[in-house]
Parts: sequence; structure tokens; C-alpha cells
Amino acid sequence: MVTAFDGDRPPSADLVSDCVHCGFCLTTCPTYVLWGAEMDSPRGRIHLIGQGLSGEPLSDSMVGHFDRCLGCMACVTACPSGVQYDRLIEDTRAQVERRHVRGVRERALRAAIFALFPYPRRLRLLRGPLRAYQKSGLQKLVGRTGLLRRLAPTIATLESLAPRLHGVPRPPARVQARGEQRAVVGMLTGCVQSAFFPDVNSATVRILAAEGCEVLIPPTQGCCGALSVHNGRRAEAQRFARRLIDTFERTGMDYFVVNAAGCGSSLKEYGELLANDPRYAGRAAGFAAKVRDLSELLVELGPVARRYPLPMSVAYHDACHLAHAQGVRTQPRALLQGIPGLEVRRIAEAEICCGSAGVWNVLNPGPAADLGDRKAKAVLATDANLLVTANPGCLMQVAAAVRRQGGTIALAHTAHVLDASIRNLPPDTLLTRS
Ligand code: SF4
Ligand code: SF4
Repeated sequence: MVTAFDGDRPPSADLVSDCVHCGFCLTTCPTYVLWGAEMDSPRGRIHLIGQGLSGEPLSDSMVGHFDRCLGCMACVTACPSGVQYDRLIEDTRAQVERRHVRGVRERALRAAIFALFPYPRRLRLLRGPLRAYQKSGLQKLVGRTGLLRRLAPTIATLESLAPRLHGVPRPPARVQARGEQRAVVGMLTGCVQSAFFPDVNSATVRILAAEGCEVLIPPTQGCCGALSVHNGRRAEAQRFARRLIDTFERTGMDYFVVNAAGCGSSLKEYGELLANDPRYAGRAAGFAAKVRDLSELLVELGPVARRYPLPMSVAYHDACHLAHAQGVRTQPRALLQGIPGLEVRRIAEAEICCGSAGVWNVLNPGPAADLGDRKAKAVLATDANLLVTANPGCLMQVAAAVRRQGGTIALAHTAHVLDASIRNLPPDTLLTRS
């Protein structure tokens, strides 16, 4: 009998034994909230990992429970015993990817996803046809017939998630600080962010420059590896990480700034990702120490640019990989509350994932839509003018769910809001975003 895990970085039995089965994590786990099944809870998955470590084989059912985990890390926040579920599931997923043979359809879908999403240039090639599709009215027609959802549910999910695209020039490789220079900052442009939300990157660059940062944006940068590492593709993630370190480490940057939550959380773990690589271990740890979410860096530096009023109410949505994985909760709120006239409203069930979770919503469209609808209802109940979050995946997921609910709320990244305030733009610039 082939046991679940081999000797190449199996999940740690010590970490498994940290779980005291108290169940405090259950109500924050989105899959437990959806289905109420023990094996689709953090505690159940830890139990399954323990079974694997005691010699059980990697059954289809076991893999199904691991696959259904969103990796949202709400359980890590909730756990009073400090169980490091993040490390357990990451090591488990790497074993699953190497040792479990998936069905043909599943393999083809995953191959297509990983041949596309971590490659910004390939994603950018989609922009032209997608814009033409959206502008021609074909999107509305296809949506009305429901044909696509019946024939190709995965394509239909991708189509429903795609944001409305606008042309935005790519940022230059170097942008000078305005006024006195306070820091030199390398910036990740990201894959989905650069292809579908280039205006978030433009806003980020303007904010950083206004706050006294010289911004370095090498156009040759690629993926940070977040999507790969979160899906057990560790070797691929290591390749991306080495390339990003090579691109940035000799630029003389003081910080490396990220405006996408999922990317930030894995960049901060480069030290662990490359710990066994003698050429890169120290460099990766040094690189990781410079990584900051945009909101973290702005709070750390303190504001110098004037904030102009934005009279509006904002519902702030915590992206899981910012709040749970990086513990960044106060900084975005502090930045928003620092804008005169802007009121920040709380979203109920804030700790529960919106169902985006990297490519989880593409791989699991049904339950992802259920979670998205639940989040959209909570967001719309705030009656705020604008939903703000700091992750492209969440923006797409919640926007699609709000459209499904027939609701209306404008959507923006934290960077859009700060940029509008610093540039003294009228509130309508934000309130017409969807
Ligand atoms: S990471 Fe999220 S989905 Fe996975 S077990 Fe923890 S709470 Fe549940
Ligand atoms: S809260 Fe922590 S210790 Fe309690 S069941 Fe969940 S993972 Fe285990």
C-alpha cells in the first residue's frame, strides 16, 4: 500500500499534534459554514493529515477534502492553540500534487490555468479580445441565453468574473519621488493585477511618489509564485521566486511593495520557500524582510501628501491573505479613516472568505458562487456607497456576486481611494466604478 506522504517535506506530525480539537475554528471556516461536514473543517482536515502520517493512503476522498480548502487561513486567526494550519496545508498540497493522479478533465483544467494565470504577458493578450467581447454587446447576449453556463461552466465562470476593461498605459520603469525622497521602493505589478487592473498599479505608483518614494518597476518582472505555492506547485513557485529576486535584488530598494494580498503573503514567505536552496536561502530571507503591503508601508512611513475630502461611506472588505495570512487589518482602515469626510463601515461575517481564493472559484464554481452571494448580501446590507478591498481576486468575485444579486455598489481598491483623495478628484470618480 502506498502511504499518503513520502519523505520529501511531509506535513509535520508535531504541528498536527498542536490541534486540541476544540472546534473554535469551525464557524470561521467557509467550507464548514457551507456544508457542516467535519472533514470539510480545519479540524477534520488536520485529522486527515494525521491519518496520512500514520500510513493511510492518499484516497480520492481525502484529496477532495484537501482540495476543497480555500486556503483562506481564517482558521489560523481563530485558533487559540496557535495551530499552523497554513504550513500543514501547504506541505500537504505539495505532496498531493506530486503523488496523486487526478482525472483527465481535472488535469487538463489545472494545466490550462497554470499555463495562463502566472504569465502576465499571456493574460495581457486576452485583454483585446475580451474588451471587444464586452463592448460589442455579445457579453450581455450570451449572459441572457445562459448557454455558456450550460455548455462550459468553467468558461462561464471566468467570463462572469472578468472586470470591465479600460485602456491604461503601463507604468514606466522608474518614477521619481515628489518632494523630498524618503525611500526607494520596488513594486510588484502582478499577473492578474497588471492585466485586468492596471489602474490599481497606476494609482499605487502615484501614491508612492506623492508620499516621497522613488518607485522601481522593472518591466521584465514576472509572477511572484503565489498561485503556484498555494496550489502545491512548489518547484514552479521556487522558479518564479528566484527570477523575481534576480530582477530586484540589485536595484538598491529599501522596500518591496505589493498591492495584491495573495502575492504579499507568499512573498513574505520566500525565506521558507527557498530555505533548502544554498544559493538563494539568504537572499530570499533578505528579500522577504523588505516586503510590505502598500497599506503597511504607507502607515510605516506616515503621510506627507495632503488628503482632500471624499464625502462617502465605504465598506472595507478584508482580503483573507491580507487579514488572516499577513495580519494586516488596522493599516488599510487607518488610511481610509485618515481621509476627511470618509466613513468606514463594517461588513458582517468579515472573517468568512468571499470564495475567490486564487483560482478556487474557477475550480469550484458552484460553492464559490454560494460564498460570493453570501458576501455580496453582507456588503449590500452596509448600504455603503463603495466597497473597498486590496486584492484583485476579491474585487472580481464580489463584483460578480453583486451583479448576480441585482445590487449596485461601486468597487475600488484601497489605492484608488487614496489616490483620488491625494489628487483631489471628485467622489464620482470612485462612485461610478463597478
Ligand atoms: S484555510 Fe479556510 S477553508 Fe481551509 S480549513 Fe482553514 S478556514 Fe477552512
Ligand atoms: S481551533 Fe485550533 S486547536 Fe481548535 S480545533 Fe481548530 S485547529 Fe484545532
